[in-house]
Amino acid sequence: MYQVNEQGFYGEFGGAYIPEMLHPNIEELRTHYLDIMNDASFQNEFRKLLADFAGRPTPLYYAARLSEKYGARIYLKREDLCHTGAHKINNTIGQILLARRLGKTRIIAETGAGQHGVATATVCALMGMPCIVYMGKTDVERQKPNVARMRLLGAEVIPVTSGNATLKDATNEAMRHWITHPDDTHYIIGSVVGPHPFPDMVARFQSVISEEIREQLVRKEGNPYPDYVIACVGGGSNAAGAFYHFLEDEHVQLIGVEAAGKGLDSGHSAATLALGKPGILHGCKTMLMQTDDGQVTEPYSVSAGLDYPGVGPLHAHLFKTGRVTFMSATDEEALRAGLEVSRMEGIIPALETAHAFAVLNKLEFEKDDVVVMNLSGRGDKDLETYSKWI
Ligand SMILES: *Cc1c(COP(=O)(O)O)cnc(C)c1O
Repeated sequence: MYQVNEQGFYGEFGGAYIPEMLHPNIEELRTHYLDIMNDASFQNEFRKLLADFAGRPTPLYYAARLSEKYGARIYLKREDLCHTGAHKINNTIGQILLARRLGKTRIIAETGAGQHGVATATVCALMGMPCIVYMGKTDVERQKPNVARMRLLGAEVIPVTSGNATLKDATNEAMRHWITHPDDTHYIIGSVVGPHPFPDMVARFQSVISEEIREQLVRKEGNPYPDYVIACVGGGSNAAGAFYHFLEDEHVQLIGVEAAGKGLDSGHSAATLALGKPGILHGCKTMLMQTDDGQVTEPYSVSAGLDYPGVGPLHAHLFKTGRVTFMSATDEEALRAGLEVSRMEGIIPALETAHAFAVLNKLEFEKDDVVVMNLSGRGDKDLETYSKWI
């Protein structure tokens, strides 16, 4: 019910709305991705790298102090402990292995906070493949440590100056580059966005998160079902991974948290599902923040990884069907929640992740509710922002 269909749609959302020039690349990917991903030797290679290179399985940590404060049994899925500091590496390992099997020799990527750029530069170094990362100039300035990391790893970082010079603009440039290098290049997209089959492919690579949560909960709680899974939503890949194996278990409440920026009504936010309407962005039909005449609205969030005017088509469908409840948190609420997690649990979360924690005080839990927070990444890259705010 929540899986993509043959045409690449989740309900009314998804598809592949692409220029003619991209058709060969997308078609090649579409016809091969499932065969490659289901191949035993591919899975073997993928699982080995997830374990030995990325550090999986990541722990499911019982957060005693947060649990006491919010009156529930709160577990943190520690994607922040993945190599390179976020869930992004799950997807980049998968995609680079797939690119190799398709005979590709160059990799391009877009990045917002720089986490996806770093994860891509990392696997390119691992495989000895050249890597170009497009990054909005605004993000280049606010995420300096990650820019330095990418360059150290051997990637070429290209600052993009169009629009707000953030993630949307970087994605446009990466797509443009791909069109002009159709034969030898794979575009490692960083979230469950873009034309079919990217959303489905990325969701499958990230689904290892909920696969592990189920196994870990059996050991810790005696059954695989939490009462809630909560994750922040930029494009939606960490949320898709954390929700994936619970989508059909309707008694598990799934909550996605968007960035409300300076407030939902402020004109400065990135809360796509709260504010958007159906439209087409980066090759797929999805919910999209736009003006009355259909121009994409420039998004805003203190967190570069959530600063995107669209959302993956899977989430648009989950919103429409009501399977997932979407909430939002402002910059201020996220910063406060990030500080709280730092001081109560000794874990500094990424600003993206902090948005997920910011809804804990808006929910009413029963005492024995099991709540899984997807701790999508660590906050090292955000120290400057946190410090200024304190
Ligand atoms: C990139 C990023 C996000 C947002 O991307 P999704 O595709 O929505 O997961 C969230 N958290 C962290 C730590 C990130 O690096």
